[in-house]
Amino acid sequence: MRFEVEASRNWLEKPHQADATSKIKIALLYPDLLGTYGDSGNAQILAVRARMRGVGCELTTVNGGQAIPDDADIYVLGGGEDGPQQAAVEMARRDGGIARAFERGAQILAICAGFQILGESFATAACASSAGLGLVPVVTRRGQSRRCVGELLVDPDPALAVPLVSCYENHGGQSELLEGRPLGKVLVGVGNRYHGGVDGYLSDNVVASYGHGPLLARNPALADFILARVPGAVLGPLGNQGVAEEIAAMRSERIAAARKIARAARFSSLLSRLGH
Ligand code: GLN
Repeated sequence: MRFEVEASRNWLEKPHQADATSKIKIALLYPDLLGTYGDSGNAQILAVRARMRGVGCELTTVNGGQAIPDDADIYVLGGGEDGPQQAAVEMARRDGGIARAFERGAQILAICAGFQILGESFATAACASSAGLGLVPVVTRRGQSRRCVGELLVDPDPALAVPLVSCYENHGGQSELLEGRPLGKVLVGVGNRYHGGVDGYLSDNVVASYGHGPLLARNPALADFILARVPGAVLGPLGNQGVAEEIAAMRSERIAAARKIARAARFSSLLSRLGH
């Protein structure tokens, strides 16, 4: 199922319906440092999905060196190379805005390097262990052998009510969750680490993943999940279809596609996980 979106409408500029009572503020953090993989698109998808549902939205871009606002509802962090990642964590620590946002329960979406810097510590090619922001219970070490590069398919925690999450990964670090729950189980790819079988992290106010794509462009139901967690946000229904039908259709399309690939590759363990 597809949503009808007027091609001429600039969804990022104009709200679909004016709604004075509800406005979601999104802060896109450090896209000049953590923007290598197009993850800034996640902030744009959040804004578009909010506006499609009649909710006003303000999207602020915070580049390296600028102050992180204290009044956003959703903070978005993307992936990047080791050097900019190190610069980003140092700036974020000095600024303190991500930690303050976390403490007051604002929503945070963090991808790959963004996920790693929220953790206790992370490794880069240049440094075996750098302190993270210590907001999520994860430790990232350097992978022993190859970089994890390729498609990533994740069966998300059922509480999310989103279909299979489709994205791609490209990272050298491997992350161990010390406690808490992941975003979901890995069906194809690596995710947090070899042989770990899970991707990302999920708590009341954090959604983290190794998935680029951008993640929310490939998985709009996940964007809706994050928007719906903003306190006080009254999301109108999507104009023309039920979200549940969209999710069910997308899930079965993806399972069918994954089954086809698994059959062609004679990937029997994946086939048995997907059901033949
Ligand atoms: N620099 C980190 C790593 O290689 C993160 C990469 C990324 O964000 N894609 O593990």
